[in-house]
Amino acid sequence: FIRFDRITKFYGPLCVVKDLDLGIEKGEFVSLLGPSGSGKTTLLMMLAGFEQPTSGSIVVDGRAINAVPTHKRDMGVVFQSYALFPHMSVGDNIAFPLQMRGVGKAEIGERVSRALDMVQMSALADRRPIQLSGGQQQRVALARALVFEPRVVLMDEPLGALDKQLREQMQLDIRDLHRRLGLTIVFVTHDQSEALTMSDRVAVFNKGNIEQIGTPREVYDAPATRFVAEFIGETN
Ligand code: ATP
Repeated sequence: FIRFDRITKFYGPLCVVKDLDLGIEKGEFVSLLGPSGSGKTTLLMMLAGFEQPTSGSIVVDGRAINAVPTHKRDMGVVFQSYALFPHMSVGDNIAFPLQMRGVGKAEIGERVSRALDMVQMSALADRRPIQLSGGQQQRVALARALVFEPRVVLMDEPLGALDKQLREQMQLDIRDLHRRLGLTIVFVTHDQSEALTMSDRVAVFNKGNIEQIGTPREVYDAPATRFVAEFIGETN
């Protein structure tokens, strides 16, 4: 469904992704796991269209998307810093991307309420972000990513700022959303246990390439390299 084909990315002289191949099935939950600076975020940014590969192609549904602009890629994006607008209500925060694209008022109303419903935040639509907990804010960010009902959701350390308990709750919520909506999710994390518990498959990154990709069991029980064994074995 999604295929990265010999993707290389340079920032100036620095090679951050190197000749990388990766295939992701429709409806799959794939984590990109690895140490800081190993190229996970850069790969996600290229899939979202915020960055261009230096070489190689990205194919979605049989179509090369290198030249397709971000807003036409049918992907929702969630970052660690949720970047909600503090002066707007929850509902208005979610409506914002729709307004930007000139969606009609009635449709905005319907889409916002569906998105709020997906993340179980309908009751808090009129609050300001500051009146919400971290987990609730993250849910709003998620609703905003889902408001166009994309097929693919890209998440970059979405739970990094949350405390342990909230984080575990959100992990369950995201899993649940994945299952209920049949989404394809690409999830960046440096947290081994998060990747292992949430994903259908885990891609372990090292220095701009994938050392190993497999189910959590495969990666955990049969690490392909010493790097994978050591990285998976580290506890946070
Ligand atoms: P992290 O978890 O810290 O975000 P990562 O695995 O996601 O790590 P990337 O963010 O993809 O790694 O970064 C890979 C390398 O590319 C790093 O060395 C980073 O400093 C560099 N880099 C990222 N963005 C840029 C940029 N816009 N210009 C120059 N260098 C960049």
